[in-house]
Amino acid sequence: MNVSIVLFTADLRLHDHPPLRTANESREVVPLFVRDRGVTGAGFAAPNRLAFLADCLRDLDGGLRERGGRLIVRSGDVVEEVCKVAAETDADEVHMAADVSAYAHRRELRLRRALEAEGRRLHVHDTVTTAVTPGALTPASSDHFAVFTPYYRQWTGVHLREALAAPRALRVPDGVGSEELPSRTRLQGLAAGLAEGGETAGRRRLASWLRAGIASYEDQHDDLAGDGTSRLSPHLHFGTLSPVELVHRARAAGGPGAEAFVRQLAWRDFHRQVLAARPTAATADYRTKRDRWRSERTAREDVRAWKEGRTGYPVIDAAMRQLRHEGWMHNRGRLLTASFLTKTLYVDWRVGARHFLELLVDGDVANNQLNWQWMAGTGTDSRPNRVLNPVTQARRYDPDGAYVRRWVPELAAVEGPAVHEPWKLQGLDRAAIDDYPDPVVELSAGLARFRQGRGGD
Ligand code: FAD
Repeated sequence: MNVSIVLFTADLRLHDHPPLRTANESREVVPLFVRDRGVTGAGFAAPNRLAFLADCLRDLDGGLRERGGRLIVRSGDVVEEVCKVAAETDADEVHMAADVSAYAHRRELRLRRALEAEGRRLHVHDTVTTAVTPGALTPASSDHFAVFTPYYRQWTGVHLREALAAPRALRVPDGVGSEELPSRTRLQGLAAGLAEGGETAGRRRLASWLRAGIASYEDQHDDLAGDGTSRLSPHLHFGTLSPVELVHRARAAGGPGAEAFVRQLAWRDFHRQVLAARPTAATADYRTKRDRWRSERTAREDVRAWKEGRTGYPVIDAAMRQLRHEGWMHNRGRLLTASFLTKTLYVDWRVGARHFLELLVDGDVANNQLNWQWMAGTGTDSRPNRVLNPVTQARRYDPDGAYVRRWVPELAAVEGPAVHEPWKLQGLDRAAIDDYPDPVVELSAGLARFRQGRGGD
């Protein structure tokens, strides 16, 4: 073998990277990233993710340089650019990771055809972006699992391959042109508290998570103010951390915290196998309830209040402001805000999913769209009509009100759990929160509208 291309996509790392490991058996390797319009153009791209991606590419380039290589970056249609680089370097093979979206399926198909027409081969590697390959586990009567529990039972029994070390050295052919690496400093509209991207930052966070976070995960993961989750989601989305390695290392840490954490990684694989089998679930109801949703146009004021974190329900507003400030939101916040939009305000889940994708640094078609569908009751939830009450949930998951006070400064002076029901405050307390809005809708009225729209329980 002579020259092999490694096409990096959602796997921006050197550790545990099967395509790189295989390609590096060739004489020379071209590590390539293509800024394809589908990823970096209007549509899926969002400033927070572009910034994180820029960090990832710089860090990947740095890691490759330490090993004698470098990253080649090109812009344009991914298939055309890969073919161009293959022709320039006379590469006979291209290695890349399998992925699940409709876009990824199309990319793989087009790339395979174009390369084969030129006498080159495409190798697509499983278990790079998931721990277990989508489609590897199936129930008796379907091509994918629609219920998590039986999926998880099988998932835990799968023998995972060993995690691979990063390559020690590699050789990139001379003279392959690359564009300048993108930089986050040129991007506008970034969240002020945006996390740092890149494999180095990801591995640092993973190490501290295994040392000081995972043991209390089972008890802490729903505590909004405690912020006791791993925050590894952007690293999993961009593949700066390997899901296979994460499962191994969490299992090695052991204990109920690690078990609960691994279960969440299985949820990630679960949604991926649903999307791989039903790519239309990114935009269409997975199990339609024939909703007569309100749209962004017909519910304009309510949607605006929700996006701005001014619904008058403190925990909803706190979570929506955390999203805007950090480009990230606590899972419990995501559940509550999604329930509020789709059930209490009875607005189409796609409106919320789109807004999340505009801001989330971990914004991910499989996880975002299918979690939105889960909460809207059009997805895989076996209780599709469940409604999360933002007051009782806030009392349970933010018992002292610290999360609300952190993100909603208008309410910072209200002590204790009273902060969750500002409409009950009286006298001076009430006057002190003058700037805070009244609830956009009464919960009972919202519930009645939802039931009517969906056609009863
Ligand atoms: P941890 O609790 O530490 O979990 C570890 C990892 O497990 C996460 O990084 C994630 O990869 C995976 N995971 C955790 N919960 C879930 C879940 N419910 N479904 C699938 N995988 C999960 N996650 C995304 O990565 N991208 C999204 O765009 C996204 N959108 C969401 C939208 C809604 C409406 C909801 C309810 C959830 C969404 N999630 C999404 C799932 C979950 O909220 C985030 O993965 C989690 O909050 C990320 O924080 P963490 O890394 O600290 O999670």
